[in-house]
Amino acid sequence: MKSLPEILAEFEQALELERELGTRTVECDRALLAPLRRAEAVAVQANQGAEASARVVPDVPPEPANEPANLGLPTVDELTACSKCPLASLGRQHVVPGQGNAASPDIMFIGEAPGADEDRQGLAFVGAAGQFLTKMILAMGYTREQVFIANICKCRPPNNRTPSPQEMTACLPYLRRQIAAIRPKCIVLLGRTAMSGLFPSQRIRRGTWYTYEGYPVIATFHPSYIIRFDPVMDATSLRTAKLEVWNTLKMVLARLGRRPPGR
Ligand code: SF4
Repeated sequence: MKSLPEILAEFEQALELERELGTRTVECDRALLAPLRRAEAVAVQANQGAEASARVVPDVPPEPANEPANLGLPTVDELTACSKCPLASLGRQHVVPGQGNAASPDIMFIGEAPGADEDRQGLAFVGAAGQFLTKMILAMGYTREQVFIANICKCRPPNNRTPSPQEMTACLPYLRRQIAAIRPKCIVLLGRTAMSGLFPSQRIRRGTWYTYEGYPVIATFHPSYIIRFDPVMDATSLRTAKLEVWNTLKMVLARLGRRPPGR
């Protein structure tokens, strides 16, 4: 049977989830507030413990370099002229370098590759998954303009298929240049493909800190994984996945010395 602090901590998480979804007011019995504050103290202590353990997680050595990373940000013209992998000739409309704050932002989000909307506009994460990413960013207290958003591959794979390991390896030097030029304080990988794209020779886990060329990296679900759930049929799985995403984003905020807005 769960203890009262555990129940209250779960209730607090449910409220956080509602806030992430856009709910700004809830009706609450005043008698609930005192135990909620005690539960918050328990949660803060637990978070501090998790942060302490996060500092001793594996420190992955950089992947072997196959191109100098100090050439500056790749330009649209440079990427448009690129034919280092088959995606150059498989129907892309625009290359998608990524966009946002390129001057040492707190966070750089990295997904796998552009989809149809991104290919059409030449911008990263502007489709349905991008809308959920925007919610994640806002829930953390940032705007899209304050972070940098990019992908492993800069060109759209046909029919939104997963980019192949060879395609990701071919495109990785551009991402390495972006990371070196942008100098983010943290990198958040979105989804399994981005995880294997940045760490092709090492299995990494979601919700665990690693380093890549000196930059702290953590991974969570891709927004498209979240939005594909049917909110009625898959309510429990959806809630579990969202809570995992939110807990990882809170680890990022803690690492940056910040708290979610309104806390
Ligand atoms: S995905 Fe990357 S490596 Fe492949 S053609 Fe596009 S820019 Fe070049």
